[in-house]
Amino acid sequence: MAGHALFVYSDAYQAYRFTPDHPFNPMRLAWTVELVRELGLLDPAEMLPPRHAGLDEILLVHSASYVDVVRELGRTGRASPIAANYGLGTEDDPVFPGMHEAAALAVGGTLEGADRIASGQALHAFNIGGGLHHAMRSQAAGFCIYNDVAIAIRRLRAAGLRVAYVDIDAHHGDGVQEAFYRDPDVLTISLHESGRYLFPGTGWVEEVGVGGGHGTTVNLPLEPFTDDRSFLEMLEGVLEPALSRFGPDILVTEFGVDAHASDPLTDLRVSTRFYWQAAAMLHAAAHAHCAGRWLAVGGGGYELLRVVPRAWTILWAEMRGTPVPLDAPLPEGFRAAHEDPEDPLPAWIVDPPGTVRPLERQAEVSGRNRATLMKLRHVCPLLA
Ligand SMILES: [Zn+2]
Ligand SMILES: [Zn+2]
Repeated sequence: MAGHALFVYSDAYQAYRFTPDHPFNPMRLAWTVELVRELGLLDPAEMLPPRHAGLDEILLVHSASYVDVVRELGRTGRASPIAANYGLGTEDDPVFPGMHEAAALAVGGTLEGADRIASGQALHAFNIGGGLHHAMRSQAAGFCIYNDVAIAIRRLRAAGLRVAYVDIDAHHGDGVQEAFYRDPDVLTISLHESGRYLFPGTGWVEEVGVGGGHGTTVNLPLEPFTDDRSFLEMLEGVLEPALSRFGPDILVTEFGVDAHASDPLTDLRVSTRFYWQAAAMLHAAAHAHCAGRWLAVGGGGYELLRVVPRAWTILWAEMRGTPVPLDAPLPEGFRAAHEDPEDPLPAWIVDPPGTVRPLERQAEVSGRNRATLMKLRHVCPLLA
């Protein structure tokens, strides 16, 4: 059914750009919109433009001193000695002109989606410019300045909703976890490449929350080279039991797509077929456990042209109730605009089985993931 989902985007998102050759490149957002439009998957009534979040909203998660520093550095566009105290002016998070406004727009996009769902005007919303899950209260980290998704969860809590957050980005959703580590009314679930091999180095099964929030943090670190089947098996193993015991009112999902085999920054090896299956699973979970309330945000994804537009188109198509057919070719218009004979585009939107060739040790990788899930069941009351 088209019409119950909103797509949050504006070309103003292009302003969130650290340096010309930084891997977090907003062109991937424009290319996603282009592909979605090529496929006829975006009615004008489904478009929701973002707005700039207000200071009061950003302060729901961030400290006043941090926000002051972001604003001041963004005014000059140059790092100062104080920047490093706040994770800024670093290789991952260089200072750029207008950084406060650019980051506030990502926050406002996620808040717009959250508010439409909380008020019942929409059932689902997807902010492709959101998902900045590494930002901490007083610290930029991992390409993230303001934590749009943690701020939106605070807003949903203020509306009285119990929130389940599910993060399938290849990196641990550490900033969101940290914001709600003591909160019994926010469940955070993160599946990610093990911190032994990948930034930010956290997200172990033993991180289960503290105080009243004990048991409402769930982490499943995955082995490098995890494939479609194993990632899906792990997601399934965690999602149903955790949601049915927690009883959320709304599902919030971080759909970073950097677990793809061709992503340059991580070692996981899924195909876009996994994203098709994961999107369907999360959609079903939102309807089964949250009366359909589902707020989705983007996140990581550094194979800018060949993966991100396809993976987020797959998610959006699922959300609006018109899933991409498994045999849908990449449309000619998109192909013509971007084809490089030296480096051809994929033939299909959903990678056919076998696109990512299994490794000899694939069974061992899956076995290790199963052992981690067993361990998680021992330490996590929700999964016991
Ligand atoms: Zn990531
Ligand atoms: Zn739906």
